[in-house]
Amino acid sequence: AHLARIDAVDEKVNAFLYVDREGALAQARAVDEKRAKGEKLGPLAGVPVALKDIFTTEGIPTTVGSKILEGWIPPYDATVTRKLKAADVVILGKTNMDEFAMGSSTENSAYGPTGNPWDLTRIPGGSGGGSAAALAAYEAPLTLGTDTGGSIRQPAAVTGTVGVKPTYGGVSRYGMVAFSSSLDQGGPCARTVLDAALLHEAIAGHDELDSTSIDAPVPPVVEAARNGSVQGMRVGVVKQFRGEGYQAGVVQRFDESVELLKSLGAEIVELDCPTFDLALSAYYLIAPSECSSNLARFDAMRYGLRVGDDGTKSAEDVTALTREAGFGDEVKRRIILGTYALSSGYYDAYYGSAQKVRTLITREFEAAFEQVDVIVSPTTPTTAFPIGERADDPMAMYLADLCTIPTNLAGNSAMSLPCGLAPEDGLPVGLQIIAPAMKDDRLYKVGAAVE
Ligand code: GLN
Repeated sequence: AHLARIDAVDEKVNAFLYVDREGALAQARAVDEKRAKGEKLGPLAGVPVALKDIFTTEGIPTTVGSKILEGWIPPYDATVTRKLKAADVVILGKTNMDEFAMGSSTENSAYGPTGNPWDLTRIPGGSGGGSAAALAAYEAPLTLGTDTGGSIRQPAAVTGTVGVKPTYGGVSRYGMVAFSSSLDQGGPCARTVLDAALLHEAIAGHDELDSTSIDAPVPPVVEAARNGSVQGMRVGVVKQFRGEGYQAGVVQRFDESVELLKSLGAEIVELDCPTFDLALSAYYLIAPSECSSNLARFDAMRYGLRVGDDGTKSAEDVTALTREAGFGDEVKRRIILGTYALSSGYYDAYYGSAQKVRTLITREFEAAFEQVDVIVSPTTPTTAFPIGERADDPMAMYLADLCTIPTNLAGNSAMSLPCGLAPEDGLPVGLQIIAPAMKDDRLYKVGAAVE
């Protein structure tokens, strides 16, 4: 049914970069056979899942939305892919994304933009716009995303779906193509809070292949999603997450969500977190710095594209020509920004200062979580904007992640879930719930209560 749905709508939506028809049908048949034999199957057995094209999949192309990896077929599975296969899910294919997960609209994909199923002339968010659009268009019931600064939550918000950024280290990064390693985190995307919890549980847990993976039990997210409640909880509302640049309908739906939380028995606590105003600036030094280092491996020798290898040029020239042709404008912009911020003479002023700000933001979260159990905010300041509107204005594009970035810098967990449609344009608005590190279950408890 999902393959038929993809055939019917994906030409318009462009959520998928690759559909693994034969593989998906073979996996589905294998589950049927296991079931017929009475073998034990997990809770997601036979359920189709689509993966953001940043997770390696053995034998299936993985492009990260970039020309530089065109034609590359990974020889191994990401830990997350391996876990999903072990859980007997059916892998449908790979979803579209901004190149190397850099963007908030999926317009930076080298394979064309994805449309928002609510209005195909608008963006589905990014970088994981393909995963969110596939859910909203009913092409897949579950998808996977990655969130470095908001790429799971902002697409969820603008497509009326649910997305969770787990605690940093909660889901293995092994086989997840690196953008900014200290911020990148894989996580679940779904249409309901419980669906997200089931996927979360299937992919989370300690992994020796990822040195930053947390060696602790997975928070009880499914149990929490089945027992939604905010009775007696203290819920923080941060002063800095509103004001200029926030659409009226977004603020209205957010305020209504706060009223709903109150009526369900939560106590609302106003919080002042002044360093959150610096988060965007710190992020746009730290993320490009790490990306400039991570992307050095795309040297035309190891993977994918190779340009100018005609026997007359040096290896250095081939590397340069390949990068010139293979990387898009945003990726080049970030590599240049990152190498500049890390260069001797500027390192302390830029990268060093950004790291200090990061520490202050982490401390501010710690202080906030002494007063409250969770924090809520709008996920993103506006509803889905038209394709093309911010394409030539990086600063306007970066503002989409104003509310999501602080969580990545601190490493704690957060969810976006739908909280109604904005009255002025009829488009979905997302409510963000933020919890302390390794308390991901609180997101699901609160999410299930207000869903
Ligand atoms: N939009 C942000 C960026 O462009 C976040 C991306 C992400 O979370 N991968 O960097």
